[in-house]
Amino acid sequence: MSNFILPLNKTVDNLRRDPILDFQAKIRNIDDLIQLTFGEPGFTVDDRIKAVAKVSIDHDRSHYANSQGEINLRRAAVSYFNRHFQLNLKGVNDVLVTQGVSEAINVVFMTILERGDGVIIPEPSYSPYSTSLALAGGVKVPLDTCEHNFKITPELIEKTIDNANIPVKAILINYPANPTGVTYSKEELLAIADTLKKHKIWVISDEIYAALTYSGEHTSLYKIIPEQSILLTGLSKSHAMTGYRIGFIFASSELIEKMLTVHEALAFAVSTLSQDAAFAALTVGEDVPEYALKAYRKRRDRLLKKLTELGFESVNPQGAFYVFTKIPKSFGNNGYKFAVDLANNAKVAVLPGEAFSKNAKNYIRISYASSDSDLDEALRRMTNYIEKGTKY
Ligand code: PLP
Repeated sequence: MSNFILPLNKTVDNLRRDPILDFQAKIRNIDDLIQLTFGEPGFTVDDRIKAVAKVSIDHDRSHYANSQGEINLRRAAVSYFNRHFQLNLKGVNDVLVTQGVSEAINVVFMTILERGDGVIIPEPSYSPYSTSLALAGGVKVPLDTCEHNFKITPELIEKTIDNANIPVKAILINYPANPTGVTYSKEELLAIADTLKKHKIWVISDEIYAALTYSGEHTSLYKIIPEQSILLTGLSKSHAMTGYRIGFIFASSELIEKMLTVHEALAFAVSTLSQDAAFAALTVGEDVPEYALKAYRKRRDRLLKKLTELGFESVNPQGAFYVFTKIPKSFGNNGYKFAVDLANNAKVAVLPGEAFSKNAKNYIRISYASSDSDLDEALRRMTNYIEKGTKY
């Protein structure tokens, strides 16, 4: 508990700092560090998108935007996501534009949860989910997949619901997944959807990495069970637009209307300039994810090959831009210590697996979103450190 003269909200006061940010703070002062920690795409924003953003400034697009999202952007989103992910969005009323998927997660939790409601969050998972859940008064119902090839199955969901000692209101599924890169085939999703239908729980589907799927087609759960699903996506990863803060929620128009009230209270509207740029991303910049994906695939293959040579055992990522990998046996089984030592000695920053699941203590997550040159230099440093014990 903090020592303030007047009490704070207890939930906030007791919140643990996000483990990713906590680890970053620990290694912050190390010089010449190559960062393979962030989910920050190693591309600049496409010139065609930037040109539109510049015109918006010159045209004084400096006023409050439509709080649900500019009509032209929502129209473009319906058309783009229906075409690319075979969704059946009916129109602009099925869309809410948010400040990234980050805000979208808070909006969804605040809209659907009562204090004490349980939400299944399969782990390893993106750690900020837990903070948003706690702030909305929800309770995490853990489902650890470390012993199950990092994937959920109908059986695991059944078991988790049966064993939960609180009512389960929702499940938050993220695929392709951060941090493991695993994803699901249509058949796997159909089986999962059957179980979710049976139990009548909300399905929050975070598909922010959908455009970065390496093999096969991405299938959305929203397409399979639209009546129970809320689809979250955005432009941070697909179009390297993290700083523009653009997210989308797709759901029935009735539910979107409820969520709009929450979004208006939290943020009112997303920046008008960013929405104009987002419109460009979904129209003239439609091909951006394609060329990014080609580059990421090459980086993934290079990184996996090198890690295997160095004695790591990796989950083969089918999407996103992370490798979740077990550290070589010669380094023991403490991924946190390994990550700290690697940062200090080899000047390469990666994240400890325990930031994503308490059962992944012998893992680290390496992001290969960074530039080719950074990845090359990081691999050279890691090889020297791991094979020869040479410090940077
Ligand atoms: N969901 C997942 C799984 C992520 O990995 C991230 C960012 O790393 C986010 C959501 C947040 O994305 P945004 O930039 O849209 O807020």
